[in-house]
Amino acid sequence: MSDSNVLDLAGLGAGPFNLSIAALADSHLTRLATRFFERRHDPVWHPGLMLPDTHLQTGFLKDLVTAVAPDSRHSFLSYLVEHRRFYRFLNAELGTVSRAEFSDYLGWAARRLENVALGEAVREVRLDARGFRIRTDAGDYRARHLSLGTGKRPWLPDFAEALRGSHCLHAAEIARTQRDFSGRRVVVVGGGQSGADIFLNALRGHWGQPRELHWISRRRNFEPLDETAFTNEYFTPDYTRGFHGLPREVRAREVAAQKLASDGITPAALQSLYRELYHRFDVLGEPRWARLFPHREAVALSRSGLGFVLTTQHGLTGDREHFNADVVVFATGFCSHLPDCLAELTPRLERDAHGELVLGPHFEASWDGPTAHRIYAVNAGRHSHGIAEPQLSLMAWRSATILNHIAGHQAFDLSENEGPIEWQPITEQRWVQAI
Ligand SMILES: Cc1cc2nc3c(=O)[nH]c(=O)nc-3n(C[C@H](O)[C@H](O)[C@H](O)COP(=O)(O)OP(=O)(O)OC[C@H]3O[C@@H](n4cnc5c(N)ncnc54)[C@H](O)[C@@H]3O)c2cc1C
Repeated sequence: MSDSNVLDLAGLGAGPFNLSIAALADSHLTRLATRFFERRHDPVWHPGLMLPDTHLQTGFLKDLVTAVAPDSRHSFLSYLVEHRRFYRFLNAELGTVSRAEFSDYLGWAARRLENVALGEAVREVRLDARGFRIRTDAGDYRARHLSLGTGKRPWLPDFAEALRGSHCLHAAEIARTQRDFSGRRVVVVGGGQSGADIFLNALRGHWGQPRELHWISRRRNFEPLDETAFTNEYFTPDYTRGFHGLPREVRAREVAAQKLASDGITPAALQSLYRELYHRFDVLGEPRWARLFPHREAVALSRSGLGFVLTTQHGLTGDREHFNADVVVFATGFCSHLPDCLAELTPRLERDAHGELVLGPHFEASWDGPTAHRIYAVNAGRHSHGIAEPQLSLMAWRSATILNHIAGHQAFDLSENEGPIEWQPITEQRWVQAI
């Protein structure tokens, strides 16, 4: 094995989260030998949901690096300057960057990083006396530590799984092939951002003119993402550090209560939707072929001829309703998943009572292997680090936290000034010091 195949850190996957670690590791600060393996030849960010008029829920300064290394050459601003569109970007006064532009930024970063191997899927990871052995499409590597960044898996309700196909699909597949909704009855299930993006595109005829378009949500209404200042304090290192120290049941309660801070629909998308509905059905007077059904939980799906019948239960009355559909799209989110290539090590990872990985403060998974070899996991700690964990907001800080831990020193300065909110109880001693 050549020296370049012996690594301090091997990354499985190079989606934005591991890519952020790769981008920060590509500096003189850590001096770590790293390599991140990405199975896609041409990295596109969630290609199955790359739809027209879809935007980031997060500010563009929360890119791969800026929060901890604003002088990095892998920032979104560097991308703009290198593409000679810095001034036009400013003139466009974009509230949020389009997903297409952010995806292009990620691809630009991935292609220029020498520690990212594109088109090289990880096939197997094993542990022997000298550390991890990683077999990829292109060769064998040895690594001291791993970073798991293979993302989440689309989640469908059990009753829909058996009928999964080209007309009963998860939102994450919608843009993968050409689709034709012309003359069809289309039902979208799920009241989050993906449901909204799909409903709006269907309403605008992106896949042809549907005969009927119904949008079903378990939520009480089509609810906005809370992007206000104090709510955004949940997306700070200070809050996240304190959160990690809370008991499991307290963390679960807080995450549930904070749902709309991370899982609502952007106010801009809601406004576009409302205006589109108003224009078509109130101004132009089209017969009302598109309708919204909040407060309904989808509970069953069955075949009916060439189509489906979706059954819902009303959240206020308990009434059951039945929707005939030719196409049902489930925008029902994603669930945690460890990749098959890790099968040998998976049973050695500790799980909590809910089956989630047990993560330490530096995102290291608890396992029964030697302490000299750690397995870090990104996008796997909503239960341990809070609602920011599956989001882009803190990825640069998390990446620096992991790299500092591996480097064994503060390669990145993560110290902060005191914030305005006291999240934790103040001991009497601290009160005395504060006065
Ligand atoms: C449509 C959509 C929009 C989102 N928008 C936002 C937003 O605006 N703001 C926000 O904060 N968050 C957003 N999120 C949440 C989150 O930021 C993203 O899901 C983000 O992509 C998570 O990054 P990741 O690196 O963990 O996983 P992924 O992006 O899923 O990347 C995982 C990568 O691992 C690769 N891989 C898998 N298995 C292997 C293997 N065996 N070998 C090699 N490579 C492998 C995959 O090809 C993939 O590229 C969004 C999520 C979705 C689905």
